[in-house]
Amino acid sequence: MVMPWSLPLASPTPRVDLAIVGAGVSGCALAASLRQRGWWGSIDLLEIGRGPGGRAATRTSRQDDGLRINHGAPLFNIRAQTPPALVKALAQRGLIRPFSGSIQSLDAQRRLGPAIADGFSDGSLWQGAGGMDRLCGGLLDLAAEQGGALNRRFGTLVRHLRPERSKAGVSWTLQDASGASVVEARWLVLSGTLLAHPRGRQVFGWTEIPLEQAAQQLADPQLSAAQAQLASIDAQASCNLLATLPQESAQAWRALHWDLLQCSPTAQERWGLRRIGVQPLADGRCVVVAESSPAFSAAHLDVYGSRSSAAQLLGATPEPTAEAQVLDALREALIDLTGLSLTGAQTQLMRWGAAFPIDPGLDPNHRLCPASAIGFCGDSLAGDGFGRIEGALSSAEALAEVLVPQL
Ligand SMILES: Cc1cc2nc3c(=O)[nH]c(=O)nc-3n(C[C@H](O)[C@H](O)[C@H](O)COP(=O)(O)OP(=O)(O)OC[C@H]3O[C@@H](n4cnc5c(N)ncnc54)[C@H](O)[C@@H]3O)c2cc1C
Repeated sequence: MVMPWSLPLASPTPRVDLAIVGAGVSGCALAASLRQRGWWGSIDLLEIGRGPGGRAATRTSRQDDGLRINHGAPLFNIRAQTPPALVKALAQRGLIRPFSGSIQSLDAQRRLGPAIADGFSDGSLWQGAGGMDRLCGGLLDLAAEQGGALNRRFGTLVRHLRPERSKAGVSWTLQDASGASVVEARWLVLSGTLLAHPRGRQVFGWTEIPLEQAAQQLADPQLSAAQAQLASIDAQASCNLLATLPQESAQAWRALHWDLLQCSPTAQERWGLRRIGVQPLADGRCVVVAESSPAFSAAHLDVYGSRSSAAQLLGATPEPTAEAQVLDALREALIDLTGLSLTGAQTQLMRWGAAFPIDPGLDPNHRLCPASAIGFCGDSLAGDGFGRIEGALSSAEALAEVLVPQL
């Protein structure tokens, strides 16, 4: 017989006032904005990735200290006349700075021209100071400097959402892939669409859509409507070639007159590339990031890079031959388009399955579902900034404004 005192002590699931799923721009901005509004409740921030950033992260390497690759957004633009308040706060602390590079465009005849309107290069242009990771890192610094408990859980996939209704209202238990409870929260905010979208089923073989299941249980018409809208948001993928060049071959790339090269529609058709970025490294090397065109990505939807988050964090199985073919195609296109060499480059594929959401997005009237104690932020909210960092920031500020009185 097992004596009660010999049983392992079950550690109680931590309880917090607010759980935020996702430490991309919007999740981090929400934490910062809540603190700036003087709300000091406890926050748990849960993120699958190794650190904050999401689609605005900077990739580092344990084997290569000097390597830093902005493998998602390389910059961001603010078009609104009144920028999100957080932009000013970040800039004042030197965490972001005006984009200092040059943007040019290229047509199918390899003619260079001025920047074209691609939605990402008008308005005021910004970048993280020293890397795009300073944006989310800076937002978390802003949140922390105001005080209040902010617990960050990286490397944690929230797989199941378990709502519970009591006399006090709805509360949420978040569980990981093993079904273990990670945290209980009075309020929940989802800053990404994964838990509300059928792609979890399609790509990772999940048996259900977690938020749909929760909405059915809670029978809250507003939450059901929000979930249905989130589930119907299509997204454009992006297959990115990341090439790290040794000093010798980096010289020619570093001498280019542009830092970001936008491909015109005809150039995209010819080379299958949408945008190319050159990112110099401190030791004389450089990284070239070639982002695929929407058509190229659509033709290779089933290919995951072995380094993509789908493969590394969510268990999707990469297919090495298909990955090598996609890498070769992007590499050839990049060499042909620029006429420059990639000799000695280390290349890898970064496949973003849902890089850019496609209109119309989530109706902002559903950003907060008070009856179910849940809210939504992120670049998938309809409105100015949709599909961009500006939208991720402004959606977080707008949510914080309506959330504080509820908390
Ligand atoms: C290649 C590329 C280039 C881009 N270029 C630009 C640009 O030039 N300018 C611009 O403004 N924007 C650009 N964007 C878009 C920009 O990156 C996004 O608009 C912005 O980063 C979105 O932030 P977010 O917080 O809404 O979402 P995300 O960054 O997607 O954050 C959501 C986070 O939630 C996490 N998460 C999701 N589900 C779970 C779960 N169940 N458990 C735990 N964690 C979870 C994810 O890992 C992620 O970190 C680009 C995007 C890509 C991919």
